[in-house]
Amino acid sequence: MSDVPRTPSEVNGLLQSHIKQRDRIQAYSINVDSEISSALKNTQPIIDELREQADKLASLFREHYQKARDAYLLEDYEEAQSYKQKGYEYETACRDLNARVVTFTQGIEKNRQRYRDSLLALRRYDDKIKSLKAIARTIAIPKAVGFDSIGISNKDIEESFLHLPNRHMKDVITTVSYSNIIRCMKEGRSIASYSVKDKIIMVHKPEAGLDAHSKLMRIKPALIHEVGHAVYHYVLNDEQKAEWHMVSETTGPINSRAQMWWKKEERRDQENFAECYRLWYENDAAYIFFLKIWKRGIITTFIEENLL
Ligand SMILES: [Zn+2]
Repeated sequence: MSDVPRTPSEVNGLLQSHIKQRDRIQAYSINVDSEISSALKNTQPIIDELREQADKLASLFREHYQKARDAYLLEDYEEAQSYKQKGYEYETACRDLNARVVTFTQGIEKNRQRYRDSLLALRRYDDKIKSLKAIARTIAIPKAVGFDSIGISNKDIEESFLHLPNRHMKDVITTVSYSNIIRCMKEGRSIASYSVKDKIIMVHKPEAGLDAHSKLMRIKPALIHEVGHAVYHYVLNDEQKAEWHMVSETTGPINSRAQMWWKKEERRDQENFAECYRLWYENDAAYIFFLKIWKRGIITTFIEENLL
């Protein structure tokens, strides 16, 4: 458990197991606490009674010891011996009683120690939970929801974002959610879409006949593309957008996907940007593309600050 969790799913998994463990310890400590109270309630009168009897026996012993000495002085050895014997019996009985008191007290003290230990363990788990929650706040990766319904683990989806810069996701994408309702493959519709208003990436139903691995391979690139949209909307400032417009118009669409939007005269800047962003984080071709732009002296502040 020394590894620091990196994705929301990992944090959540650990958090759930810590919370479960903490709840178990809490139930245990409540149990021990009530054991202590009932033990005190039941045994305290017994202890008091034993102590009282022990005190009586102790004074009887002292009395007989004195009588035995007096008898010795009067040289009544037989009487002295009998007092001595009696006194000895009282002393032994008194010692037995005291031993029983100690046993009772030790039992209670043992439970008290169990209770103190459980409180310490509780505090340890509370600290673990607190630090996990702190880690969760620093993770910029969006939380994946609902992918188990198509045989993909939410953790696998979240891991697709691990190599992207935190500042491209923090506060601009909260969730990646699988929707079984919208079918992709409608003309021009991607398998994923980014809601600027809700800051959510929706992943739509993939084509039929794909196994879980193929579905994941189909979804992953689309996720990076959608982060590109989030970056375009929330990370680029107006100046950078204007620069990007110039770059994009000068170099043209980077691939056939961007070309499709280009022809529609709709969202061409941002679709070209999202595809460039995806390729940049997926392969070297984009690096060469950006380098070409850079060498031609049309460097954008975004490329400078974020990509190169
Ligand atoms: Zn797009």
